Amino acid sequence: MMLLYEGKAKRVYRTETEDVYRIEYKDEVTAGNGEKHDFLTGKGRLNNLISSDIFQYMADHDVDSHFIERISETEQLVRSVEIIPLEVVVRNFASGSIVKRLGLEPYQPMTPPLVEFYYKKDELNDPILTDAHVEMLDLATREEIESLKTAALKINEVLRGMMEKMRLSLIDFKIEFGKDKAGRIVLADEISPDTCRIVDMETKENFDKDVYRNSTGSLLDTYSEFYNKMEALK
Ligand code: ADP
Ligand code: MG
Repeated sequence: MMLLYEGKAKRVYRTETEDVYRIEYKDEVTAGNGEKHDFLTGKGRLNNLISSDIFQYMADHDVDSHFIERISETEQLVRSVEIIPLEVVVRNFASGSIVKRLGLEPYQPMTPPLVEFYYKKDELNDPILTDAHVEMLDLATREEIESLKTAALKINEVLRGMMEKMRLSLIDFKIEFGKDKAGRIVLADEISPDTCRIVDMETKENFDKDVYRNSTGSLLDTYSEFYNKMEALK
């Protein structure tokens, strides 16, 4: 009912309240822009619990987001925003596509952390964009680009701090931003092991979607262990 959009991992619904959407996390997982695809009972619940708790942690550390409240095991209420079609990626250590593209050493430190923009467009395979491309495509103004970078780096600091307390290291992550009615840029979408690369500080074991991408373990067990580590922080 009142389904507005169905994506790869979530469904977005309108609610009775004008500026409020309901996001339902699905029991589905994809990798490589849908190349790999599976149904996993309980995955939506874990992502919803983790993402709600991360947004709450963000709020407690002065990072504003679309998150209002979790209303069930698989759903949360958020402020509706107009999503800026950019995937903003922050990298603390080299991993994934950048290792191949630039010939880097895996886990080579990125100091200072690197912020990158990718065009959120599945049919183009989310290509990387320079600031000039972002401006040319009218996705953001020069001032907005600076705000996005500043916000992304602040989110990185808060997330890194949280992970450190869990004895985990934040390798990289992807976030999305949107504009609210007042034109203010806010953090939106999701932050979870689907959208971050996280490794154990000692064992270097992955606590993220790489276990699914690379078929190295059970995604449900991994996410549930991550959630338990988060719970232990409370
Ligand atoms: P996708 O396959 O496009 O990544 P998802 O399964 O992640 O989609 O579903 C969530 C969709 O909802 C995404 O397209 C995301 O940009 C969008 N979205 C996230 N938060 C909000 C919000 N607060 N308002 C409007 N749209 C949102
Ligand atoms: Mg998504």
